Order: sequence, then structure tokens, then C-alpha cells
Amino acid sequence: MDLQILSQKSILEKLIEEKLKPYVKKIDTDAFYAEGFLRKLGEAGLLSSLNKSKKEYLLNEMYLVEETAKVCMTTAFCLWCHLAALTYVRQTKNNKLKERLLSSLEKGEILAGTGLSNPMKYYAGLEKLHLSAKPVEGGYLLSGVLPSVSNLGEDHWFGCIAGIKEGNDIMCFVPCNAEGLKMKEKIDYLGINGSATYACSFTDVFVPDEWVLSENAKEYVEQIRPAFLLYQIPLGLGVTQASITSIEKVCQKQNGCNQFLKKQPDDLRAIEHDIQQKLQSLFNGDSLNFRDIAKIRLKAAYLTLEAVQESMLHNGSAGYIQDSAPSRRLREAYFFANLTPTVKHLEKVLNG
Ligand SMILES: Cc1cc2nc3c(=O)[nH]c(=O)nc-3n(C[C@H](O)[C@H](O)[C@H](O)COP(=O)(O)OP(=O)(O)OC[C@H]3O[C@@H](n4cnc5c(N)ncnc54)[C@H](O)[C@@H]3O)c2cc1C
Repeated sequence: MDLQILSQKSILEKLIEEKLKPYVKKIDTDAFYAEGFLRKLGEAGLLSSLNKSKKEYLLNEMYLVEETAKVCMTTAFCLWCHLAALTYVRQTKNNKLKERLLSSLEKGEILAGTGLSNPMKYYAGLEKLHLSAKPVEGGYLLSGVLPSVSNLGEDHWFGCIAGIKEGNDIMCFVPCNAEGLKMKEKIDYLGINGSATYACSFTDVFVPDEWVLSENAKEYVEQIRPAFLLYQIPLGLGVTQASITSIEKVCQKQNGCNQFLKKQPDDLRAIEHDIQQKLQSLFNGDSLNFRDIAKIRLKAAYLTLEAVQESMLHNGSAGYIQDSAPSRRLREAYFFANLTPTVKHLEKVLNG
């Protein structure tokens, strides 16, 4: 293995060991946001795209998400939010914005999220656009509500899309402290409460031209969607691998009674390997096609649900304890299935 990759792996292992593992219970039960871990990933250079091809940084960062998700899917989801936001800034033609933020985002000095669920659903014909934009001198005034945006905080930024009455939708990058933006924390979910999720209400928020990622959001979404989706797949694969490990740990219990259960680690691992191979072959091709990625994303969602359920069956009452790892993964996996594009959204796009 390449020396640089080897050293990055060991840095990641150390960060997970020291900055994430000690907080996993707190993240799950006390809505603790592992901001320090995310910042350290950037500080250690693990989010840098400098001197890397797109393929290289995508694969590196997908690996970060997978390894994080093995330990805590909530934090891996926060990392996904940051990577999605990073993608918007990496690919924008707005050089002023890129110069101002890209390096700070990659170094973890600034963290960011993404409010694109609603527009993704809008472009797939599922719902109306929640935000509107009114052109004014030097920018736009944004109004409307995004019900849930994660990985936010006082000095964070996030991407969003707003519709103009007569014209293209715009995509912009907004700081959480923008005037007219109200944020209300949401921590009453079944799981992933440590994801720093907020309802964001916009009342005439002035977005200067410098914060506009694209003046043709529909077209821009086509461009950023492959990375948006690719970074999600390892969320499920990490949880699946952790579930398989947890099943293996209890295989000798009660005189090996678990061997009579219909699904065994090898069955789950075979599907997981198949998904990993499909992912690899995507990267061996010339371009990353949205439909191919969406098919893998859907398979990963179904496999993850199956893996966490099997882990509950194999672990028995120990897994039924409220803050046990199998129960946490079960709750986190239901979020993965309901993260945009949700299972129903993907089924519509692929089979509707
Ligand atoms: C914990 C959490 C974090 C999320 N983080 C993000 C994020 O960072 N960025 C992002 O863009 N999206 C985020 N989402 C949204 C997510 O990606 C999915 O879009 C959503 O979970 C599922 O969408 P859905 O298709 O089931 O429709 P829903 O979003 O459930 O919407 C369907 C309809 O229900 C309405 N609705 C939504 N919430 C409620 C409610 N609590 N009570 C009553 N009606 C409701 C909606 O207005 C809509 O008309 C988050 C969701 C959750 C649960």
C-alpha cells in the first residue's frame, strides 16, 4: 500500500480511537455533537483535495465515512454533510467564494452542512421548493423554511436552493449567522440526535452574489449529485460491517443456537462484497453515472436495514437494551433509509 495512504489510515484510526469512540454513547443518548472529531479530520489533512484527482479524493473520503460509520453513523452522517457542502464549493465557478472558503473547509476550520433534501425531492417531482429568492441590488433575498439541516453551528455554513418567480433557481452557500436566519435545534428524533440538526427559517435573508454557488441550480445539481450520493453509500456499508462483527461476537452464545437463524454473517458479507465491487467498477469507468450510483445506494439501504435487524436477532436481549450498540445501529439505519434520496425516492427514480 502507498505510504501516504498508510499514514492517513493510521491517523484516522488514532482520531477515531481518541476523538470519537469515547463519545459514542454521549452522541447517542445526550445529543452530543462530535464537532472536535470533524475538525481534527480536516486539521490532519484528511479532507484535502490538493494534488489529488477527483477519483482519489472521492475514494479517500468515502473511506473516511465508512470507517467513521463503523463506530458511529451519526458522526459519519455529519461528515457526509460536510463532504456534500465541500463538493458544492469545490465545483462552483464562483472563484471568490472558492478562494474565501475552500481551504478553510478542507482544513476543518469551517464546518458546513447541506439543505438540499427538499430541492432533490423537488427535481424528482416529489414536492414543491420550500425557499424563494427575490433578486435585489447585489444579490437576493431568501425566504422560507427548511425543516431539517444537520451539521450546523454558530460559525457553520450550508448549501441551499431557492426558486425565483421568473427565472432559474439559484444555489447558494449561507452562513448560520446570516441576518434574518432563525435556527431551532431538533433533538427529539429516534436516533442521530447528535447530528446538530436545526430547522432553518429564512425571513428576507440577504444573500450577496459572493455567496451564490450557481445561478442555474437545476443544472448544478446534476453536476454535484454523483458525489452527494457516493458519499452516502459508505454510511450504510460501515454500519453493515459493524453489525456483521457484532453478530460474529455472539455466535458461540447459548451453545451456538444462533447458527439456526436464517441469515448468517457470510450471507450479509456476500451482499456487502458485491456492493463494494460494483462501487469499484463504477470508478474504473470513464464517468460516474447517477443511475448506476443510485442503484448501489438503494442496495446499500436495503442491506443496512437487513444487517441491523439480523444483529438484533443474533444479540437477543443484550441488543434490546436502549443504549446498546445493536439498538443504536438499528435506529441509525432507519435514518439512512430515510435520508434523501430515501428508499421510496430511489424506488421512484429507478423503477417508477
Ligand atoms: C434527523 C434528520 C436530519 C436531517 N438532516 C437533513 C439535512 O442535513 N439536510 C436536508 O436537506 N435534509 C435533512 N433531513 C431530511 C431528510 O434528508 C429526508 O428528506 C427526510 O428524512 C425524509 O423525507 P421524506 O421524503 O420522508 O419526507 P419528509 O421530509 O418527512 O416530508 C414529507 C412531508 O412531511 C412534512 N413534514 C416533515 N417533517 C414533519 C414533521 N416533523 N411533522 C409533520 N410533518 C412533517 C414535510 O413538510 C412534507 O410535506 C433530515 C431529516 C432528519 C429526520
